[in-house]
Amino acid sequence: MNNIYDMIIIGSGPAGMAAAIYAQRAMLKTLVIEKDIPGGQVVNTYEVDNYPGIPDITGFELSTKMREHAEKLGVEIQSEFVEDVVLDNKIKVVKTSTNEYQSKTIIIATGAKWRKVGVKGEQEFTGRGVSYCATCDGAFFRNRTVAVIGGGDVAVEDAIFLARMCKKVYLLHRRDELRAVKILQENLFKIEKEKLEILWDTEVQEIIGNDQVEKITVVNNKTNEQKQIELEGVFVGIGTEPNSELIKDKVKCDDNGYVITDEAGETSVKGVYAAGDVKQKSLRQIITAAADGATSVYAAERYILENFS
Ligand code: NAP
Repeated sequence: MNNIYDMIIIGSGPAGMAAAIYAQRAMLKTLVIEKDIPGGQVVNTYEVDNYPGIPDITGFELSTKMREHAEKLGVEIQSEFVEDVVLDNKIKVVKTSTNEYQSKTIIIATGAKWRKVGVKGEQEFTGRGVSYCATCDGAFFRNRTVAVIGGGDVAVEDAIFLARMCKKVYLLHRRDELRAVKILQENLFKIEKEKLEILWDTEVQEIIGNDQVEKITVVNNKTNEQKQIELEGVFVGIGTEPNSELIKDKVKCDDNGYVITDEAGETSVKGVYAAGDVKQKSLRQIITAAADGATSVYAAERYILENFS
């Protein structure tokens, strides 16, 4: 059983890194497999101000610290694209584009991806004015006019961040009240009127341009009033969808594709766990992702003791 890992963790966001740290400290033979852009969605968060003990840190810095912590403990990390997992037998198999690994347990920590609005022009202008990451692309829109779509934490955070550098930011929300936490709303409402305009009950119908985005058509869903707004950038912040394609036919998932686990993080397949944003849960935050990682390792450790001793 020398080549067989105790645990393979797929994904290197906060859930994956927390799992790796706990697994390494439990002296489990552990491998983390991450895709080309490591660190998960947290990397794109401009400011994380709710991770206890570490105020005023960017998502990128926090993610780097987590990784350094895991590496310091000696965690093995491979950057490979996972193409398939075989979960039918007691020893599970993880197939990547270049290797095949065997493991007693697997933790799925593949996170989530940005949801698309699904309007005409969105796909066409992605990378040419349409962005899903204000912290990555905001600087390209210095002194320009942009719109942010959404009413949750991400959209409001993005609007605040972009208002610091853009000429004008439109925040377009489909309802008349924001979903974002109150402290973010307070910070948003402090921004001067010339910099920020919130369009309530507003939906984007089309993103228009030639080489780059030039304008959008929006509609007020209460009055049906339509108008066009001239701008250079559209930032989409309307939530996420799980990265569960790899396992959605192999473990039980809910109707939205989130992996269903028990309280210990175990999926419908023994020895296979899910942690972080990919799983069905009530609160998707860095702290809950990290907690999922730790909980899964605790359960997996017991599973290994009971089934492989
Ligand atoms: P979210 O909380 O699910 O909010 C999504 C927003 O987009 C909602 O306002 C929703 O409108 C709107 N929306 C959804 N689909 C839409 C569509 N097709 N067209 C137009 N608008 C649409 O998602 P999120 O803001 O991306 O946040 C994701 C998770 O990360 C959340 O759990 C959040 O708390 C967490 N997060 C936390 C922090 C932090 O604590 N610092 C920072 C960022 C993110 P309705 O309100 O009408 O549903």
